[in-house]
Amino acid sequence: MAQREQIRTGERGVLAHFGHMDEEPMTITEGDGAYVRTDDDEEYLDFTSQLYCVNAGHSNDAITDAMAEQLDRIQYVSSAKDNDARSQLADTLTEVAPQPLTDVFFSISGSESNEAAIQIAREFQDASTVLTRWRSYHGGTYATAGITGDPAIRLPVESHAATTGNVKFLPPFGGADAAFDADSPEELTERSLAHLEYVIRNQGPDSIAALVTEIVGGSSGAFTAPPGYFEGVRELCDEYDILLIADEVITGFGRCGEWFGSQTEGIEPDMITFAKGVTSAYAPLAGVLMRSELGTALREDAMDIGQTFAGNPVACAAGNAALEEYDDHLIDNVQELSPALEERVRSLADHDVVCDVRGRGFHWAVEFADPETGELVFDPRVEDGYNPVADVLTRTREKGVLVGGGRPLIQIMLSPPFCVDEDDIETGV
Ligand code: PLP
Repeated sequence: MAQREQIRTGERGVLAHFGHMDEEPMTITEGDGAYVRTDDDEEYLDFTSQLYCVNAGHSNDAITDAMAEQLDRIQYVSSAKDNDARSQLADTLTEVAPQPLTDVFFSISGSESNEAAIQIAREFQDASTVLTRWRSYHGGTYATAGITGDPAIRLPVESHAATTGNVKFLPPFGGADAAFDADSPEELTERSLAHLEYVIRNQGPDSIAALVTEIVGGSSGAFTAPPGYFEGVRELCDEYDILLIADEVITGFGRCGEWFGSQTEGIEPDMITFAKGVTSAYAPLAGVLMRSELGTALREDAMDIGQTFAGNPVACAAGNAALEEYDDHLIDNVQELSPALEERVRSLADHDVVCDVRGRGFHWAVEFADPETGELVFDPRVEDGYNPVADVLTRTREKGVLVGGGRPLIQIMLSPPFCVDEDDIETGV
């Protein structure tokens, strides 16, 4: 009773998640294409795609109609039975993904997809170590916080051995605070790969189940690998029998100009985890694409993993319609407008507070440094003090544009929906 009283009198509400402390609250009530409206009738150009999800833009009729039609037929079928919308989506996914990936496991979120991929890899390889990277984000569940290379997320679970045991971190392959000094991108590739091989050999290849990596860094800063890096990673994984898991939760479904980021690097991972763009965020849906040996192991071994709402038919109908929209014109639009977006975003590097601009396709990060000292500006959640990046977020908002704050908050993220036109790009940048 006392507890109930406490709840009644205490502060209530939706707990902020992925929020930026310095921003004024905002209540978004409507969306149309690349624009959103708030309860006080302000309109904003959404240069975030709402956490890099709404690739097809808001209020896309083709997607909402497909969902309504599916709702009229049947709203839910358990994963113990087949469903036509789900099978159709699995077929299309395996057609557009790198070819060796023939099997799909559906889940609900990117975090659960990464959890499943790690579990499958550890079981299949009979090994437990996972290699991952500092300045990465892989999810908010226990195990995925444990493989996320962001101290603000990993440190709180650092001491929980069950989640963080047997996880080793590689340095990011770029950025203003890159771990390796190199005079050229080729030298950076060479050093990063030599370091990876050193870690594998010293760790003991037989103990390593998988290497998990974003292809272009996500919310941690749109890092792009130097040329040949990922081909080298693929070769080392083959040589030492380590599964390569590409976390394409952000880079999947056209954001980098191809269906998957792996295709922009010319590599074939053993598993791809996906979420966000698969339905353009019209319904929660995610999954793991994998090689047939892994699919067979999942079917035949004792790995009884799955979730009640995974592969929900209405979400799959949204996914089928979203994929058609991508195929029909949206990925073409990303390819056509990426050079204009890149040129404008790169011009921001002329400002003396900007120390690095990086990204690919429709996914960019602009990183800030103190112009006097060259030091990166720090996230106020980590260090006390004024953060100019929070100011940038506020000021862009005053100009009617939403941009994202990266993790840590030393950078802003520019990731527009695929339905923008050149004028929107001009306005956004
Ligand atoms: N992986 C990456 C690269 C992400 O950006 C995210 C979320 O932002 C996740 C995994 C986790 O996905 P979810 O939030 O759907 O669990």
